[in-house]
Amino acid sequence: MDLHNLIIETTRRCNMKCDHCLRGPAQDIAMTQEVITPFFRDVDSIDVLTFTGGEPSLPSGVMAMNLILDTIVDKSIMIQSFFIATNGKRWSNAFVKFIYRIYSYCEENDTSGIKISGDQFHSTHRNERNEFQDKLYSTLQYDYDIENLNIWTDNTLMSDNRILYMGNAIDNGIGQQPINTRDFRVGMFEDQIQVRGDVYLSSDGHVINHCDYSYDDIAYDEDALICKVVDFTNENMRRRAK
Ligand code: SF4
Repeated sequence: MDLHNLIIETTRRCNMKCDHCLRGPAQDIAMTQEVITPFFRDVDSIDVLTFTGGEPSLPSGVMAMNLILDTIVDKSIMIQSFFIATNGKRWSNAFVKFIYRIYSYCEENDTSGIKISGDQFHSTHRNERNEFQDKLYSTLQYDYDIENLNIWTDNTLMSDNRILYMGNAIDNGIGQQPINTRDFRVGMFEDQIQVRGDVYLSSDGHVINHCDYSYDDIAYDEDALICKVVDFTNENMRRRAK
């Protein structure tokens, strides 16, 4: 099975409590091997692998990313490029080491990157975040010999119509209704299954058709669910092929 855009929720722990967070309050859940193994059973390639959370730079996120990459390497799954979204609040050598690992494994790093959130909801630690970005650049460059990885802080202000009405945003009375942009679809090329659009793997083992869902939606919205992780097989996806 070939996946176009795979997004993995590494952990639901977070070191921030943003007013607009579409996920909702942090939870004490992180990705485990029990979810990783069945998900990757029939996966052959991934165009873009994104790590998100919660906050992937926390120890539980870094541990999950390493477990995921171990499985990918073990199964020789091809990855074109990777993307990590972080709040840039916490520095750790383990996080940088993981970036080096995934960078070294990907085939096409021109489009790989690390995005640091810098909108008004993440502005409480601007100095730490700037230090994080500078240190990340220099550590990757001088300690790991990586010079061309895209690392940027997204300072775009989130206007009310860009904030999804989900999770903490509902509790705080901000944001607009979510726009339905699900485009998950399955096709065949010769005998190979091609999954297009987003596939989102949650840390509690749900395979979802878009990355923009709250933890409550992931658990209860039937329109969001592709399948439980144990059912993410070639056989089941072939039945959905058009
Ligand atoms: S938006 Fe990101 S950093 Fe902020 S609370 Fe949600 S997961 Fe944490």
